[in-house]
Amino acid sequence: MVSSDISTASPRKLEGKVAIITGGASGIGESTARLFVHHGAKVLIADVQDKLGQSLAMDLGPPEIVSFVHCNVTSDSDLENAVDTAVSRYGQLDIMYNNAGIGDIMYNNAGIGGNLDTTILNSDNADFKKVLEINLFGSFLGAKHAARVMIPARKGCILFTGSVAASISGDLSYAYKASKHAILGLNNNLTVELGKYGIRVNTISPYGVATPMVTSGMQMDKKAAEEFMSAAGNLRGAILEPEDVARAALYLASDDAKYVSGLNLIVDGGHNHNHPLFGATDSLAN
Ligand code: NAD
Repeated sequence: MVSSDISTASPRKLEGKVAIITGGASGIGESTARLFVHHGAKVLIADVQDKLGQSLAMDLGPPEIVSFVHCNVTSDSDLENAVDTAVSRYGQLDIMYNNAGIGDIMYNNAGIGGNLDTTILNSDNADFKKVLEINLFGSFLGAKHAARVMIPARKGCILFTGSVAASISGDLSYAYKASKHAILGLNNNLTVELGKYGIRVNTISPYGVATPMVTSGMQMDKKAAEEFMSAAGNLRGAILEPEDVARAALYLASDDAKYVSGLNLIVDGGHNHNHPLFGATDSLAN
């Protein structure tokens, strides 16, 4: 049983836990790997960027604590291997963070702040399938293999990275929006099916963060991307950074969230509530 005693709560919130983070070599996944290790977790970084993932793992600690495994999330056998590696190397799997994801061709051709053609008629079919395969099918496979070992253990925590794109509509890529909307379907069904085994399932849905996915897609440097997204966002005086998303993942992965399951934790400074017609404008806010 998980304790509710605040006085004995460990400052290292993931002591004794083992986590896999897909897409853990870069951006949000990298920040989460850093934070999870800092909080006492043993972490298996699973990614297709082998060199980056290996050097991050070496930077974060010895192989007894943190290591890398090559894992393309579209491959059933790669995810099977990642989960089995975590169990054989670290003895168990407590946290499966299905975070790997990509933007799409539209974003990759957008350039600074614009010319983003997201119309249905200009949506590329192959691109749509590719985005769904990585963002959605990859997350499904990750959850499936995690459940394989978490059900017999009768405990565990499955996390997804969704997006605020699931909660707003309009000038958005169909592929990306559909992939992140469907993550919530996985989240909700898994919450119900796996609750009886003591497994919690939650999603973290960020607003724009200037990670390599975004800076390369928007063809901006990090600072320009941060300024662009901050100006377009709802919450003034703050920039959303990968660490902010990692902290949300830490909360959901830790025993602080022991009775939290089925949540879509939107980390967007309230952006999804701000309709351009009726929301506060800069002139009103200032
Ligand atoms: P990122 O590009 O920095 O990191 C994504 C990681 O996923 C990379 O290391 C990449 O190698 C890995 N990856 C891509 N395809 C993979 C595959 N087939 N198998 C395994 N790994 C693969 O970008 P990020 O912003 O940190 O993205 C992480 C997640 O956050 C994604 O799911 C993304 O959709 C989501 N997200 C990002 C933002 C944002 O603005 N950056 C906002 C909302 C949601």
